[in-house]
Amino acid sequence: MSTGIKNLVRTLDSVDFLKMDRRTFMKAVSAMGAAAFMGTYKADIVQALEFAETKLVWLHGSECTGCSESVLNAGNPDIVQALQKLNVNLAFHETLCAQQGIWNDGELVNTAELNSEILLEELYKEGKYILVVEGSIPNGPDGSGRYLVIGNKTFKETLGEAAKNAVAIVAVGACAAYGGITSADSEVAKDTDYRGVAFAKEDANGGMLQILGIDKPVINIPGCPAHPDWVLLTVGAVILGKIKVPDDLPAVLDKYGRPMVFFPPDHTVHENCPRRGYYDRGEFDEQVGGEKCLWKLGCKAPYAHADCGIRKWNSGISMCTQAGGPCIACVEPGFPDTSRPLYVEREDLGLAGANIDTVAKVAVGAAAVAAGVHAVRRMKGE
Ligand code: SF4
Ligand code: SF4
Repeated sequence: MSTGIKNLVRTLDSVDFLKMDRRTFMKAVSAMGAAAFMGTYKADIVQALEFAETKLVWLHGSECTGCSESVLNAGNPDIVQALQKLNVNLAFHETLCAQQGIWNDGELVNTAELNSEILLEELYKEGKYILVVEGSIPNGPDGSGRYLVIGNKTFKETLGEAAKNAVAIVAVGACAAYGGITSADSEVAKDTDYRGVAFAKEDANGGMLQILGIDKPVINIPGCPAHPDWVLLTVGAVILGKIKVPDDLPAVLDKYGRPMVFFPPDHTVHENCPRRGYYDRGEFDEQVGGEKCLWKLGCKAPYAHADCGIRKWNSGISMCTQAGGPCIACVEPGFPDTSRPLYVEREDLGLAGANIDTVAKVAVGAAAVAAGVHAVRRMKGE
């Protein structure tokens, strides 16, 4: 833990967790990450939730299950620790539910323990759950939603039923948030017509809930996949009442429904990239496997609003550009189309509209001027 974070933890130690306001909570979450936050407030969180139990219903639409895998790979706390600490009842998660089916040994099963359709219906009736959606929702063909049918029900219908009684909805991953990979431009995109829960790419009026005429608060946690901290801490903040839904949402979400604490509108991945020094000196890799800036290999981090460079991935060990992979701006609502062509330099865009070679020359020039000033000062003994 860095000295700055240690100081923050020390300051926050004197703050009563239950009285901690939303701003302080968001600051702590942003600076400390899930592991340090859970560690510091474990006892308080358990006390706060002693008598509460929050149900999570986690549905899967059209997706690769990568976001579930990402959350399951959360190192510290891992998913089991996080669910225990947050007193969460993971009431339904298709991939994790054991032995759910409609038939068992050729017999129709009619209990919620064995039949996921009955279990879901019971949960819908009970209400008071947070609905997590992973994966997009096909509206095609022709608005029928029949490109994804599970148990003779379209996922479009399932989402509608689940959304109606949810207290809040968290759309996890690029697909659930904006359509993601499934909605990428292609010859069949119009027919399949994949939507996010509340958005269709950048369109805040094009989500599946709008098509279904359902008005529910939705928090988007994009990413391909989403970072486990982003998911666990957002769900935690809602459960703990640190983000009050829907009242606090206008203050904590950006115009694309993303928590600004993880997806800051005025900050890009590029700003904290471990290779940033090379960029500033105008030194670029032209082949994979090097150590310099990846801009010429198609890095889109200057357009990606996320804290990957600070938070890092795999329990704080590394992140895309550090590991040698150009950022593909997977957190942006237009992804993947706005990041295309992947791994190819966007010569037309440059940084802030300027050509990258000009930016690099200016950066090198500025560095040379700064070095010159420094040398003159040294000679003068300043
Ligand atoms: S590798 Fe990407 S994020 Fe890192 S400095 Fe270069 S352009 Fe910026
Ligand atoms: S560094 Fe870029 S591609 Fe990697 S997770 Fe962050 S936003 Fe997505």
